Amino acid sequence: MEITTALTADILVIGFGKGGKTAARVLADAGRRVVLIEQSANMYGGTCPNVGCVPTKMLVHYATTKRLQDDAQQFFAQSVAGVRALTSAFRAGNFEALNGKDTATVITGTARFLDPHTVAVGEGRDLITVTAPTILVNTGSEPVIPPIPGLADSSHLVSSTELTQTQNLPERLVVLGGGYLGLEFAGIYRHFGTEVTVLEAADRLLPREDEDIAEAVQEILTGDGIRIITGAKVTEVRDNGAVSTAVYDKDGRTHTVEASALLPATGRRPVTDGLHLDAAGVHTAPNGAIVVDEYLRSSQPHIYALGDVNGGEQFTYISLDDARIVLDQLLGEGKRITGDRRAVPHTLFITPPLATVGLTESQARAQGLNITVAREKVADIVAMPRAYTVEETRGVMKFIVDSDTDLILGAALLSIDAQEIINTVALAMRHHITATQLRDSIYTHPSSTEALNEVFDKVLP
Ligand SMILES: Cc1cc2nc3c(=O)[nH]c(=O)nc-3n(C[C@H](O)[C@H](O)[C@H](O)COP(=O)(O)OP(=O)(O)OC[C@H]3O[C@@H](n4cnc5c(N)ncnc54)[C@H](O)[C@@H]3O)c2cc1C
Repeated sequence: MEITTALTADILVIGFGKGGKTAARVLADAGRRVVLIEQSANMYGGTCPNVGCVPTKMLVHYATTKRLQDDAQQFFAQSVAGVRALTSAFRAGNFEALNGKDTATVITGTARFLDPHTVAVGEGRDLITVTAPTILVNTGSEPVIPPIPGLADSSHLVSSTELTQTQNLPERLVVLGGGYLGLEFAGIYRHFGTEVTVLEAADRLLPREDEDIAEAVQEILTGDGIRIITGAKVTEVRDNGAVSTAVYDKDGRTHTVEASALLPATGRRPVTDGLHLDAAGVHTAPNGAIVVDEYLRSSQPHIYALGDVNGGEQFTYISLDDARIVLDQLLGEGKRITGDRRAVPHTLFITPPLATVGLTESQARAQGLNITVAREKVADIVAMPRAYTVEETRGVMKFIVDSDTDLILGAALLSIDAQEIINTVALAMRHHITATQLRDSIYTHPSSTEALNEVFDKVLP
C-alpha cells in the first residue's frame, strides 16, 4: 500500500457533528493537535445546520409567513433560496471556526479504520492516514427506508434533505410516519400550499404523549388541512408516471392515496457501515449503533462515540451534552456521565410547537404517584395576552405536579413559544423549584412564560 500522507494527532474526530466539532474546538483551544475528518464539503457543521434543525425551522418560519395572495411555487422557491444562503453561511463559519485554528486541521473525505489507532481517507496516491491515541466517532444517523414493496425504487421517493433543497413545491406529499420529523414536514409543506397526507401505522399520533395532548395536536394539524390517517399499514407503492400510489390497509380494507412526493419518516439509524469498526475492535448493536458505556467509551476505551451514532436520543443538544461528557474525560475530572441527565425537554416544531418534559399524566398515574394536573387551553389563559398579540391562541398547557412535594413531574405545552417556556420548566425540575415558586415568580409582560402565573393557580392551594 502506497501511503502519500501519514499524519499523527493527539485527537482524531470522525464526522463534523455537534458533539465532534464542539469537542474538537475545545481540545484545539487547549493546545491538543486535532484532526477532524468530514466526508462531505456540504456537511461542515454536520446535519443540524446543513440539512436538519436549521433548514427545517427556517422553513417552518417562512411557511407561516406566506400570505394568501403569494404564488405558492414562487414563495417556496424564494424560501428555499433563503435557507440555502443561511446554511452556506453557517457551513463556512463552522469550517473556519475549526480549520482556522493553528492546532486543528479539517480533512474532507470518508474515514475508515485500519486498526484501533489508525484511520484512512482516500485510496492509492491520495491515501491519507491519521494515527491518534484518542479517537471520537461522531458520524450521525441516516434515514431508514421501510421495506415496503416499490418504495425504495419509486421515482417519487424523497428524503428530508431533498425536500428542504428542492426548488419545486410538491403538489401532493405523502408522509409515511407521524413522528417528529413526519409531522414537522407535514406542517411545513401544508403551510406552503401542498396537499399533505400523513399515514401512521399506530392507532393514534404521538403514542408516548397523553391522549388529550395527541388529540389537540391532531385537531390543529387537521384544522390546517393536513389529512392524517392513523392505523394505516402501507403495503405497497406503485409508480404511475407523474404520481405514485401508496396502498395501505386500514380497518381490514385496502385504500390508496396518490403522491407526487413520498417521504419516509419512520426513523433514522446510526451511520457505521463504512467505518470498518471491526478493524478497530469496536462493538456495535444490531441497529449499527456503537455500544458505549455511561462515559461514552466504546469497547475500545480510547475510542468514544458521540451523538446519534451511539444510539442515544437523536437531538443536537444531546450530541452537545455528549461532548461535555467526553471533554470531562479528556480535560476534566472524568465524573460526568449520561445518567446525570435529568428533565431533558423535547420540541416538535409544528405550529404552534409542542414541547414536553418529564412524565406524562398517564405515566405518573401508572407509577401510582399522587398527582395534581394543571391544564388550561391557551385561548383561556388570561395572564398570557402574548398569544392574542401574535394571533396564535391555539393549543393547551398541561403540568403534572407531585401533590405531596409540590415538585413538577412533567409538562406538555402545545403553545406559541413552547420551545422556550419548556426550558424554564425543565430548569425548575432539575433544581427542585416548586410549582408554587414558578406560579409566584415575576415574568416579563407580555410573554408566554406568564402562563405559569395562571395555570398553576387553578389547582394549587
Ligand atoms: C430534518 C431533521 C430535522 C431535525 N431537527 C432537529 C431539531 O429541531 N432539534 C434537534 O435537536 N435535533 C433535530 N434533528 C436531529 C439532529 O439534527 C441530530 O440529532 C444531530 O444533528 C446529530 O448530530 P451528530 O452530532 O450525531 O452528527 P451529525 O451532525 O449527523 O454529523 C455527522 C457527520 O459525520 C459525517 N460522516 C458520516 N460518516 C463519515 C465517515 N465515514 N467519515 C467522515 N465523515 C463522516 C457526516 O457527513 C456528517 O456531517 C433533526 C434531524 C433531521 C434529519
